[in-house]
Amino acid sequence: ETITIGTESKTYPVYVGLGAVQQLNSYIYKNFPSLTNIMIITDETVASLYLTKLQDNLSDFETFSYVAPIGERAKTFEVYYQVLSFALERKLDRKSLIIAFGGGAVGDLGGFIAATYMRGIPFIQVPTTILAHDSAVGGKTAINHPLGKNMIGAFYQPEAVFYDLNFLSSLPLNERRSGFAEVIKHGLIHDPIFFTWLMEKITTLRDYSHSDLAFSLIKGIEIKNYFVSKDEKESGIRAYLNFGHTLGHAIEAELGYGEWTHGEAVLVGMLFALKLSKKITDLDFNTDNFKAWLEHLGYKTEIPKELSREKLLERMKQDKKSVGQKVNFVLLKEVGSPVLYEVSDEEILIQLEIF
Ligand code: NAD
Ligand code: ZN
Repeated sequence: ETITIGTESKTYPVYVGLGAVQQLNSYIYKNFPSLTNIMIITDETVASLYLTKLQDNLSDFETFSYVAPIGERAKTFEVYYQVLSFALERKLDRKSLIIAFGGGAVGDLGGFIAATYMRGIPFIQVPTTILAHDSAVGGKTAINHPLGKNMIGAFYQPEAVFYDLNFLSSLPLNERRSGFAEVIKHGLIHDPIFFTWLMEKITTLRDYSHSDLAFSLIKGIEIKNYFVSKDEKESGIRAYLNFGHTLGHAIEAELGYGEWTHGEAVLVGMLFALKLSKKITDLDFNTDNFKAWLEHLGYKTEIPKELSREKLLERMKQDKKSVGQKVNFVLLKEVGSPVLYEVSDEEILIQLEIF
């Protein structure tokens, strides 16, 4: 299955399916006739599981690989600097190609390297996590600053995305939950029929049918693309993709990054936004059914007891997506109809108390 991602600056294909990566060699052969060499950027886990497999699928080309540390430790200035040095030493040039091979962290790092190395060279994403259905679409690339996550970055689109579902079978359960939370988000903010399908069809994340997984990811990618293509640089409707993230980010930051996965925190944020929506926009939604489904899938559905409500509110106000001093929440009028709403501190605190 191929999805075409359209943005103002570029159009590119996303190939989704079992064995998608087998098309990589011929795709590059066709589209990069004067290619010199390829730098693969990956992380330790993905390298040990799949790097030789990827290299086998690039047999016509000269490749070299940079193996970054896992998770957010890949998105540091130190690693960024090291990858650049490595690339310069190996004579990576403007006729070279970068392949970002891994989850969202590697995608963000690899994309930012590609955006800035010699003022920009082409790159391809080969995602290996469910979350990457989200991060591989939209052209945001970034590394972290000690003072804030994703603070140094660029908008930069890949040439193509090869999403091979075979890689997902080794993904740990909490990482599956993390990525699947964004799939649920995409359903909630844009597609009630898809959302209902998810709740009926997805009863476990332990072993999923490949066709259900493929359908979930394709839908998620299409919905993300819908918001992004209309609004590449995040002025208007792209903000709706932030559904669940206002409280989600606050929980992540207060707990310390890595305690919960991103999606697990966002999921509690969505539950909170749904409850606020019922109160503020009269959303008609059965949160008890939703919560039961989520718990069945193994999600946490409570804000950690040890977190102070006041501190969470403070974090939400610092969020770079909040305007002025009030917190700007994405709420739903209905499933599939998001709306931006300024919520007062009092209302937030009350809702945090009774959540
Ligand atoms: P990740 O890249 O850190 O991967 C999660 C973990 O899974 C890592 O330990 C990784 O080594 C491991 N892993 C990856 N693929 C695997 C596989 N197939 N089998 C077994 N283990 C595997 O994280 P992620 O959840 O994919 O992405 C999170 C990152 O994405 C964050 O840095 C976030 O800021 C970023 N992000 C970016 C965007 C964007 O638009 N650019 C959007 C959302 C998130
Ligand atoms: Zn997210």
